[in-house]
This record gives sequence, structure tokens and C-alpha cells, in this order.
Amino acid sequence: MDFSVLYIGSGQATWNGAVPLAKSGVKVGVIEESQYGGVCSNKGCNAKIILDKPLELVDATRRLQGRGLDGVPAVNWEDLMAHKHELIVPQDSHGKERLVDAGITTINGHAEFVDAHTVSVDGQHYTADQIVIATGLRPHRLNIPGAEHFHDSTDFLSLAHMPKHMTILGGGFVAIEFATIANAVGAQVDVITRGNRILKQFPAEYVAQVKADLKNRGVRFIPDMSIEAAEPTEDGQLALTGPREFSLTTDYVLDATGRIPNHDQLNLDAVGVKTVADGIPVNDYLQTNVENIYVSGDAISKTIPKLTPTAAFESRYLAARFMGKNDQPIKYPAISEIVFTSPRIAQVGVKLDEAKANPDKYDITEASYDGDWYRQIENENGAKLSLIFDRTSDQLVGAAEISHEAESTINGLLPYIQFKLNRSQLNDLIYLFPSIEYTTQRRLPLV
Ligand SMILES: Cc1cc2nc3c(=O)[nH]c(=O)nc-3n(C[C@H](O)[C@H](O)[C@H](O)COP(=O)(O)OP(=O)(O)OC[C@H]3O[C@@H](n4cnc5c(N)ncnc54)[C@H](O)[C@@H]3O)c2cc1C
Repeated sequence: MDFSVLYIGSGQATWNGAVPLAKSGVKVGVIEESQYGGVCSNKGCNAKIILDKPLELVDATRRLQGRGLDGVPAVNWEDLMAHKHELIVPQDSHGKERLVDAGITTINGHAEFVDAHTVSVDGQHYTADQIVIATGLRPHRLNIPGAEHFHDSTDFLSLAHMPKHMTILGGGFVAIEFATIANAVGAQVDVITRGNRILKQFPAEYVAQVKADLKNRGVRFIPDMSIEAAEPTEDGQLALTGPREFSLTTDYVLDATGRIPNHDQLNLDAVGVKTVADGIPVNDYLQTNVENIYVSGDAISKTIPKLTPTAAFESRYLAARFMGKNDQPIKYPAISEIVFTSPRIAQVGVKLDEAKANPDKYDITEASYDGDWYRQIENENGAKLSLIFDRTSDQLVGAAEISHEAESTINGLLPYIQFKLNRSQLNDLIYLFPSIEYTTQRRLPLV
């Protein structure tokens, strides 16, 4: 065999485990058809947060007008984009170097299965004892007349000039985060959704608050609308049409209607690996129905969030398994997730909507930060935290927050939930003061 373990894809679902695996002496190969490091490093999380962070600073500055700050800095999208390029362009070569430095053989090109132990890249065959499919997702593209004029998340993250009018199709986290960014940079933004809910995985009450806030900032939401066609106009715009004589003329359409797996391009029929619409089903060891073929990251069919930290966790789990250090089934810890709107919504553990629907099982403590002096340093109003306790065990099992600091709060509460602390243990930690984590702890009920 050429390799002991051969990975297809080089994203978070690969390198987090492949690097320590190769360093332990195992013969590892990685095949990548695009940029090393995958979506998160090159056209996802990292690029997005580079564009978002300065806009958050502007927002914070706006909240402090007349409270010590005079003047809101102007956003220069072109400069911001240049800053993003400077940080992101090297990620591809860094991603490759990280693998090569660990002793991994890198292979550039599109991989397809030949048999359960053989993968072909540009006609060259590579054999391996174990193969890990870590091929992730790609943007779903609407199949309607004129859709070739639409753009996807990758295009948006390299958008040279912010258009005057942007139409965003979809209500998931990519759609709403990018609506927040485009609005902050000065575009008139319309968000068109098939149903009437956005950000379905987050608490309905907090989402309603974010939506109301975006509306106040000028974002228009057009629910229950499926665009049927797009046609270029004479002056370089796009005319969108839909049912009930809907029409809208816009400068730019971002198709953010979801993400679909890349497994359809792997010739999986040749090996009989089963697939479903959202990915490849695996057992508790991340194995497919073919024993030596595993899946890691977004390529897995799973109900837990398809995010970088879950992909990294799976990658490290598999590496430990291949090193012979872990023969146990994968056991996911509490998983936190966030939407980088302004303010953010973050959550971990049992979801707020589920807790509200099951009052016999869960006890909810809701806290507002409106009277909190520390949050008001930045003149932040409307921030809220919900804590969810299991009525039987008295343990903290979930939390959700809407605020500009939600990531710090939820990260601070994560160990409480993961290590199953009960109410009386929650206050047995002395945090730095002043800090968000200290402020959060003051919101926890005393027994
Ligand atoms: C716009 C955007 C913003 C995001 N923001 C966040 C965030 O803030 N936080 C967060 O946690 N997550 C975020 N995500 C999700 C995160 O990027 C993914 O969960 C993560 O990248 C999954 O890693 P992966 O390794 O499973 O897949 P990927 O990163 O998709 O990597 C798969 C790799 O496989 C390669 N590949 C596919 N098919 C083949 C083939 N046949 N042969 C060879 N190579 C192949 C691809 O080129 C790709 O490089 C975001 C995603 C997007 C699109």
C-alpha cells in the first residue's frame, strides 16, 4: 500500500488529525483539488470574520457617540477587502506547508474511487489501508433561468466593490451574516426567503430581535417567496421575478440557499458507499458501510452542526483511532454555535425553544443585561441570557445569549455544561474582574 491513511480533502476535517498522525510515524497522504486548508481557511469562517470584525468596531463606536467618542469611522470596503486578501491568500500555501512539514505526501487534483483501497487522481492510482472522505460541502445553486448571473458565498468574500443594491436568497447563517455585513457597508439589502423563518437553529425570540434590529438598519425581508427567474436589464442590473407577479430589480444576487455535499463527485458507486442527501451516513466510529472507508467533517450525514470545531473534533478522534489510542465510539461533547450578526446569537447544549416546549423537564432562568454597568460601558442594550437547568439533576444543560459578547459568554459557560456542574457548583469559580465571564457568573442563580 502507498499509504496507511489517505485523506480526500485537506480542510479542518483532515489536517487537525492528519498532522499528529503523520508525526506519530504513520504514512499519510492528503489529496486536495482546490485550496489547502479547505473552506474555513480560504473561503469561509476566516475571511468572513476579517470582514465582520472592523464593522463590529464601527458599530461599537456608533453606540458610544456622545459618550466619549465623536465621529463614526467610514468603512472603506476596498481597503478592507485588501486587508482580507493579505491575510487569506497565504492560507493555501500555509495549509500545504503544515502537511508537508509533518511528513505528509500531498497530491494535487480531483480524487475518485477505483476500489475500496484505491483512489485515482488524474489517472494515477494511490492505494491505502484506510481512506478518509473529508470532502466537505459546496454552495447549493438554484436551478432557474438566469441563475448563472447569481453569486455564491465565495464570490461575496472576494467582492471587489459593494453594490448599491444586494438581494440575498436564503435565511441561513451565511445569508444573514452577509446581509449584516453588506448593510453595514452601505448596501440596500433585501433578504428573500422561501418560508418566513430565518436562522432556524437559533432561539426564535432572539432571532426575532436580530431581525427587528436589521429591519431598523434598513434591511428588507421578503418572506414566502421563491424566485423563479432572473434576467439582465439594459443598464446592467438583474430583474428577478416570482409568483404573485413579484418583481425586483437589483445589482447583485447572492444565492445563499444552502450547502450540499461533494460526495456526488467521488465515484462512490464503484465501492458501494451509501449516501443520503445531506452527506454520507457513518456508524459511531465514523465508518461508512465499507469497513476501511471513513468520513470526517461536513461530509458526514449528521444532525449536529456542520462547523469547523466539529470537523476538527472528528478529525482528531479518527487520528487517535488510527494510532491505536482510542477504540471507543465517538462521544461528542456539548457543541456551541454562533451567528455573527450584530448583536451575535450564541448557544450551547439544550436549545431554548426545546426547553420552553418542555417545562416539566427544564427550568429556564432568563436574565437581561440592561441594568448591568459593565455591559453599558459600550452602551449595549437588549442583551439577554437564558440558562437552562435540568429539573431532575439540577445541572446546567444549556445556555443561549443575544449580545455583542455572546461568544465570550457561551465559551465561558461551556465547561459548566460539558462537565455537568449543578447549581451549587456553578459559583465555585473565581473569574477575572471586570470581565464578561465574571458578569455572566453573576447571572447564575444561587442555591
Ligand atoms: C461562508 C462560510 C462561513 C462559515 N463560517 C463559519 C464559522 O464562523 N464558524 C464555523 O465553525 N464554521 C463556519 N463555516 C463552516 C466551516 O467552514 C466548515 O464546517 C468547515 O470548513 C468544514 O471542514 P471540512 O474539512 O469538513 O470541509 P471543507 O473545509 O469543505 O474541506 C473539504 C476539502 O475537500 C476538497 N475536495 C472536495 N472534493 C474533493 C475531491 N474529490 N478530490 C480532492 N479534494 C476534494 C475541497 O476542495 C476542500 O478543500 C462557514 C462556512 C462558510 C461557507
